[in-house]
Amino acid sequence: MPELPEVETIKEDLRELVVGSKIERAEVLDPSLVEQPQAEEFARRLEGVRITGTRRRAKHLIVELDSGDSLVFQLKIGGQLLLVPPVEEPKTALMLILHLDADRRLFLRDETGFTRARLLDAEELEERLSPLGPEPLEEGFDAGYLQRKIGSRRAQIKPLLLDQKVVSGIGNIYADEILYDTRLHPRRKANTLSEEEWKALHAAIRSNLAAGVEHRGTTVRLYRDVLDRPGEHQNYLRVFEKHGRPCPGCEGEVVREKVGGRPSHFCPECQRENGPKSGGTLESLW
Ligand SMILES: [Zn+2]
Repeated sequence: MPELPEVETIKEDLRELVVGSKIERAEVLDPSLVEQPQAEEFARRLEGVRITGTRRRAKHLIVELDSGDSLVFQLKIGGQLLLVPPVEEPKTALMLILHLDADRRLFLRDETGFTRARLLDAEELEERLSPLGPEPLEEGFDAGYLQRKIGSRRAQIKPLLLDQKVVSGIGNIYADEILYDTRLHPRRKANTLSEEEWKALHAAIRSNLAAGVEHRGTTVRLYRDVLDRPGEHQNYLRVFEKHGRPCPGCEGEVVREKVGGRPSHFCPECQRENGPKSGGTLESLW
């Protein structure tokens, strides 16, 4: 599903293309989209309001309205927001159409049907966002925070990285790439990481997400920006869905195994389950 870089890209596109536009009418084509309030009230409260801004928090895409409400999307794996024109009108898997002024329409489509939307007032929004961990590309997120937050946990490192209460915005693609960069096995227990490994993990979180934003997201299958263009970060992936292919860092082969219920891609040579081969923490502990 869209992770921080993809949602950030869509947010920036919307900021450029639709902020200032008025929503003349909202057409809910798939009521399962709307989590809150009821679909009818959702459509009614969107009618005649102006889009004043867009922002992102974790993987939430937030469209700010002059009514004081926020339209909050959680785009799932097939979730696409497309602006017509210039994009050609999509015909399938439609969930919502926002009819804008100047004869433009914003289409939400999702062929998996898992995308969800909410229309929240300020208090409801605050409540929704408050459990989320820090934004990894902002100040205040540092290696010390990570170590304090999860450094004593016996849990596996990959599910912790995916936990939005620990850090916001990381999903399955970037988690695998981050762990590869850090040479951490996805099943490595958090409480076995050395100070250097926490620093490396923090740096890899930042560099991978920043590169993803720079490349306008990763299109493995369905992700598109608001103008229906794929991202480019898929061209920079080292391990995600590269199982059976050579590791770019050694002679070994990238494998795919489930970790914490999620398919995980890593190099068992470079990413040892019990820690680095030599010169690392475990050896110094021995
Ligand atoms: Zn390797």
